[in-house]
Amino acid sequence: MVSRLKLQYCKIILATSLVWFLLDVVLLMYYTDCATHASVDCQNTNNNEKPVKKSEESLLQRILPKGLMGRPSMPGDMGKPVSIPADRLEESKDKFKIHQFNLVASDIMSLNRTLPDYRIPGCRNKKYPPVSKLPDTSVVIVFHNEAWSTLLRTIHSVINRSPPELLKEIILVDDASEHEELGEKLDAYLATLPVHCYVLRTEERTGLIRARLKGAAKSKGKVITFLDAHCEATEGWLEPLMAEIYHDRTSVACPIIDVISDDTFEYITGSDMTWGGFNWKLNFRWYPVPQRELDRRAGDRSQPVRTPTMAGGLFSIDRDYFYEVGSYDEGMDIWGAENLEMSFRVWMCGGKVLIVTCSRVGHVFRKTSPYSWPGGVAKIINHNTQRIVEVWMDEYKDFFYKINPGVKNTEYGDVSARKEFRENKQCKSFKWYLENIYPESQMPVEYHALGEIKNKQTGGCVDSMGRKSGEKVGLVHCHGMGGNQIFSYTSKQALQTDDVCLDVSAIGGPVKLFQCHGLGGNQKWEYSRETHELRHVNSNQCLGKASDADKEAPSIGPCDGSEGQKWTFSDMKM
Ligand code: UDP
Ligand code: MN
Repeated sequence: MVSRLKLQYCKIILATSLVWFLLDVVLLMYYTDCATHASVDCQNTNNNEKPVKKSEESLLQRILPKGLMGRPSMPGDMGKPVSIPADRLEESKDKFKIHQFNLVASDIMSLNRTLPDYRIPGCRNKKYPPVSKLPDTSVVIVFHNEAWSTLLRTIHSVINRSPPELLKEIILVDDASEHEELGEKLDAYLATLPVHCYVLRTEERTGLIRARLKGAAKSKGKVITFLDAHCEATEGWLEPLMAEIYHDRTSVACPIIDVISDDTFEYITGSDMTWGGFNWKLNFRWYPVPQRELDRRAGDRSQPVRTPTMAGGLFSIDRDYFYEVGSYDEGMDIWGAENLEMSFRVWMCGGKVLIVTCSRVGHVFRKTSPYSWPGGVAKIINHNTQRIVEVWMDEYKDFFYKINPGVKNTEYGDVSARKEFRENKQCKSFKWYLENIYPESQMPVEYHALGEIKNKQTGGCVDSMGRKSGEKVGLVHCHGMGGNQIFSYTSKQALQTDDVCLDVSAIGGPVKLFQCHGLGGNQKWEYSRETHELRHVNSNQCLGKASDADKEAPSIGPCDGSEGQKWTFSDMKM
């Protein structure tokens, strides 16, 4: 998950934003990175072939990846993109929808594909405590209907690239998959591996949160390392994670999550300059690491980043600490929000969440979710999100519900046990978290107004239309449902909705959405309570209703005192 989630917004432009929250619902878009010995490798993902005998396989695995040097090159080796043979293009298109990635590409690659060493020099030369001192780990991988080749490549990459002393076992949790090959055939294959590797199966679909809890409960390692079922661990991935936990058992250690292309399976390195945050709707988002955190690490990119939130799918945590800090919220269903829940909880209850930049694991990021969401995506995400809001966000929950009124009506079950946990642990406030861990957050802590911006003449409201940075803002019927029509007029005089601000870069130009930079400039607006004008300071022009030429796009023009240039905020503190 990691990916995480990364709910992103549709490219579909809705004519009205009445149904703004349906954007989350309709499309789930994530944000929003061997051989060999031919007998093992080249069997690769031919699912009908019997696994090789244990003795041969063990030998091969033990000598990987060094022993791979001699094998003939295979598609995708060294992280390169796979090109699909012309006669299989049609098939690869057809099969894409099964897993929402290019299954044919994955299937023609080696299960033990080779990868370059992607670490920066500062990481390659880094000294860690000897493996005899580092904690060992159980790797827990949950999946629902995962493809054979991606699942097995995840497992092989872990075996091939982990010091055997540190790898206690690999526990798979099959969350009620319907694919036959993930049954006995998988058990038989795993029995041939040189590392203890077995499958637990849920009786019915439980979702990734409860599936991970099932795996964690059985784990015997000192540390639990969670991975998604479509990952590739790279050279030296494990030692830096274990070292962080060795130095501080309250550290939750996440690798950098690199991107494995959903189309070509090319391995594309992600930046070590991004960290995890969240937007107004509590969707996880990647943002640039701020200068403050770069300074704290004195410019040393091999030092872990103290990230406000984690993507959620890939991380290591001391096993005992996992339970001490409240494991997971069992009341959360299927997928989503558990990563923010854990991030808030760990920081607020005394731990830390780190992106360990010397550890890199690739993950296939998908644009759409391939599996079913019983009861509907919105219901599940809102349910999970509301559980965070109710338990962890204190007075900020009022703000959340104001901008996301649709979420409030979802049932979210009983959170009393989670509240009790927080109470007993004497965890800090959400205000403390925002001030100390995430001062860069977009939560409107200080603002003059928070609500709709209504045009006096047309009665319409400024509306982000769910559009992205660089696109025009809209002016449409006021729906009173919050969401894309809620703006904060910030203490820096920006007009902000979520993480974007109203921005104009040309005289008379259209009003666009841009990432808020907090520096005034083209994002500074002066509101007059007397004249009700919103003056764009740089151009000295006023915000006006949409022109006839472009009915739904407000623009700026010379201030003329007309009704079309008068605006009211629905909730003004000034
Ligand atoms: N998963 C699961 N049960 C579910 C939903 C997801 O076991 O009901 C697994 C899924 O197979 C994957 C992991 O949870 O291994 C994370 O899900 P996904 O990859 O869809 O999340 P993303 O990476 O997009 O955040
Ligand atoms: Mn995933």
